[in-house]
Formats: sequence, structure tokens, C-alpha cells
Amino acid sequence: STTTNHIRLMVVGQEGVGKSALIVKYLTGRFISEYQSDFDWKYSYQTNIEGEQVHMEIIDSLTIDDTHIVWAEGFMMVYDVTNQDSLLKIEQIKERLDSVRSTKILTMIMVANKTDMEHCRTVSREQADALAARLSCGHVECSACGPEAEVRFAFDELCREVALA
Ligand code: GDP
Repeated sequence: STTTNHIRLMVVGQEGVGKSALIVKYLTGRFISEYQSDFDWKYSYQTNIEGEQVHMEIIDSLTIDDTHIVWAEGFMMVYDVTNQDSLLKIEQIKERLDSVRSTKILTMIMVANKTDMEHCRTVSREQADALAARLSCGHVECSACGPEAEVRFAFDELCREVALA
């Protein structure tokens, strides 16, 4: 195929849930524990998903800017399985996105991060599944310092959703 699909993604979630770590893992295959994330980053990435050439732009935002919300086609809502507050934060973010986008359909996926910290888990799979059902979105679990395939699946899944929307 000679066509390239352009996809604009935004990764959101409470500070410290691992947004930067997930993006860096996706783009480089590595876990970088202390990544400079004090300001907004826009990443550009070329990949192949199911035989289709995809040019992705990904915004990692510390603050959620209205212009970014309008810009993005797909949202990755990240929470940390060891942090209940970060799950509640997802509902707040969803309300914010809905209020800015009003009529536009919101394409999103919920991503649980830090599953390597199973011993410190405070958010159950069932609890997060219930929220995902309420928000009518997909829900996947991964760890930025775990298997690359899980992280890849989360991003690829969101891209598929955007392509279908
Ligand atoms: P952000 O503020 O959402 O961008 O979060 P960061 O990517 O800066 O990560 C916050 C902290 O959590 C850093 O100390 C990371 O090393 C750590 N971290 C990120 N992802 C994981 C993970 O999957 N497992 C563990 N154990 N630590 C993680």
C-alpha cells in the first residue's frame, strides 16, 4: 500500500501514572525510568499496523490544553494500578474532554499501567472494567517496564479504534 494514514493521539492521566514511560517504551522498546517530562512533548512516529503504513503523532501532556483536545483523534487514558486516585482522575478527564469536544465522538482506550507492581495493586481489574463499561471504551493492562508487546498492543488498539471511527 502506498497510502499513509495519519493518526493524532493524546496520552492523558494523572501525573506519575507513567504516560511518558509508556510512550518512550512504545517508541524505543525501552523502559527509561526518569524521563524528562516537565513540559509538553509531541512525538512523531512511523509504523506499520496490520500492513498499513501509519504516521502517528503523539502528545504527552502534563496539562490538558483545549487546543490539544480538539487536535487529537484518539485518547489514551492512563491510570496506575497502585493508585486509586488515578482511576478517579480518568472520570474527571473524560468529563473535561466531553465538554470541550461537545458533539464530536470521543475515541478512547483505558490503559492500566504498572502491573509489574502487583504486590502494591489497589485497583482491581473488575473495578476498572466497570468504569470502562460505563465509559464504553476498551481497557487493557500493561507495564512500561514489562513486555513490550503489551504496550504495543495498547497503542495499536487505540489506532485501530481511530481508524474505525
Ligand atoms: P507521567 O507523569 O505520567 O508521564 O509519568 P512518568 O512516565 O514520568 O512516570 C512516573 C514514575 O513512575 C517514574 O518514576 C517512572 O519510572 C515510574 N513508572 C512508569 N511506568 C512504570 C511501570 O510500568 N512500572 C513501574 N514500576 N514504574 C513505572
